[in-house]
Amino acid sequence: MHATDQENVVLSLEVPTGVLSFTLIDVVYEADWNETCLISWRKFDETGLFYMFGKDRIISVKMNSDDSVVLQATLEYGAYQVFPIVQHGQIYITSTDFWHQALGHSFTHYWSNAKDIYADGDILPKRPSHFWCSQCATYNSNEQAHKPVDGPRSKEPFDLVHTDLMGPSKVESMGRKKYMRSFLDDFTRYAEVNFLFKKSDASRVLQTFCEKINTQTKRYPRSFRSDQGGEYLNAELTDYFESKGIQHLITAAYSPESNGVVERYNQNLTNMV
Ligand SMILES: [Zn+2]
Repeated sequence: MHATDQENVVLSLEVPTGVLSFTLIDVVYEADWNETCLISWRKFDETGLFYMFGKDRIISVKMNSDDSVVLQATLEYGAYQVFPIVQHGQIYITSTDFWHQALGHSFTHYWSNAKDIYADGDILPKRPSHFWCSQCATYNSNEQAHKPVDGPRSKEPFDLVHTDLMGPSKVESMGRKKYMRSFLDDFTRYAEVNFLFKKSDASRVLQTFCEKINTQTKRYPRSFRSDQGGEYLNAELTDYFESKGIQHLITAAYSPESNGVVERYNQNLTNMV
């Protein structure tokens, strides 16, 4: 377990006597943990100030001194759950990790001036003094380890475009699409995402992308790098690439790291969603 922070967190809770501000001390934050938070009854007990009382699927934590309720948990989905009232400025904002992922693993030092640029920039947490993200760390170490596989880097826009297809996703988009095709220009890092109904639309989307680049820049992409997905193995696309002089670089089987640039991008997109 890699705990990145140990702090106090203030929760606003509804108890029978009204809304109560409740401070949890020594809260351990763990980046790989899911969104569930655990509260330890043992920690309450160790203070000697509280007792626990259970009735009708509700657990109440009460003060020894005056029997007042300080926390209530209801049995739902097989566990006793506390539902704090979410307030901007408290729990919400403490979640640096949430925002880091929602903003596509952005560097937290860009957050300092968010307030000046965006009207709602103040909902971002204060820039943390030290922030550690397991995915960024993994990616950075992968990138260094795999750099030789990537081959020579591009010198101009659209010398090399990374592309990948993701899906089918369990949940369809609002337009009932299940696949996501992403393009990422190696040189400019210009990125584009398309959503598809079915896998076989992929080669049409790829051609549309090439034509668009040609209209905008008066040249076709020089090369594409992709995995060995079956969606490229068709005569139509092969002919198209040949007619435009586009080189198709296929990454070696079972080495997704050599298509790492776009896979990383897709991972970020998924996190942002
Ligand atoms: Zn990250």
